[in-house]
Amino acid sequence: MTELIYPQMPERSLVVLIGPSGSGKSTIARTWPASQVLSLDALREVVSDDAGDQTATGDAVAALHLLLEARMRRRLFTVVDATNVTRSAREPLIAAAKRHDMLPIAVMVATPGSVCIERQGPRPANRTVPEDVVIKQHKDMVDSHRTLKAEGFSEIVFSDSLYRLLPFLERLSETRQADLGLDGSAGLGDLNLVSRVFGAEILPLWQWKPGSNVADGDRVAEIRLGQQYLTLALRTDVDGEGDVGFDVMVPCPHDDECTSRAWVPAYSVTCLFRALNGDLDDDEDIVCTAHGPKNGDEQDDDLEAQDLEVIHG
Ligand SMILES: [Zn+2]
Repeated sequence: MTELIYPQMPERSLVVLIGPSGSGKSTIARTWPASQVLSLDALREVVSDDAGDQTATGDAVAALHLLLEARMRRRLFTVVDATNVTRSAREPLIAAAKRHDMLPIAVMVATPGSVCIERQGPRPANRTVPEDVVIKQHKDMVDSHRTLKAEGFSEIVFSDSLYRLLPFLERLSETRQADLGLDGSAGLGDLNLVSRVFGAEILPLWQWKPGSNVADGDRVAEIRLGQQYLTLALRTDVDGEGDVGFDVMVPCPHDDECTSRAWVPAYSVTCLFRALNGDLDDDEDIVCTAHGPKNGDEQDDDLEAQDLEVIHG
């Protein structure tokens, strides 16, 4: 085998990961940008809604070959994330690379079989590969090592010898710097807080409402999609110590007819879901601008009872 250490893969190469289920191929693959990785599991999910549906493998492989051809034709660096433990699985990959003058590189993910089997445990049921299948895949991988060169791979590398942590962190860091505007762009600005609290997926729906005074002068925002929406307020001193947080508007828990605004703290996207779903309508942390806190109910009842006592003597 080659002793070559691979700090940097040549740009015009096709990286074929080879390893049994549970060997850690996807973890390595994720260190490259998503657009550069063709994952058989992901394509199985695309064609069948179920990444573990083995009956979808034929269609997923066909899709993978189609996408691979399109990328090789463009001479784009590509990683194939599939077990690739058989010669018949690897042959069309090598052929596609060679057709377009790309360098096929085999990366053996030679994790011990016992570890691969252990890793099946925590996986979702549909993604668990039976032990005998993993053992067979592991044996096939070991056996294939001798023939890889003859099959046409230009290089054979063990994943242990890769330097992938640095580029992975670099990419994550660049994304983070861009969000913060430290790369010279405008950055997300005050949306960083929104992203941190509710997740980046919410950002496209998030709309600040400058000039709105429904929150007594605090900044107001709306999350709207079609007919459904939530109104939020940014509170800049939620605990008397200057911490910031969000409230989401909910119906007044005291009185169905109340037209004042009632708010409840929103700590995560789960709070947003529950607020829209009505699950927070009886939350004890709701405060109505007119009626006060929800847990003021008992007090009100006591007062009413006292009033009645007074009336009835
Ligand atoms: Zn009220």
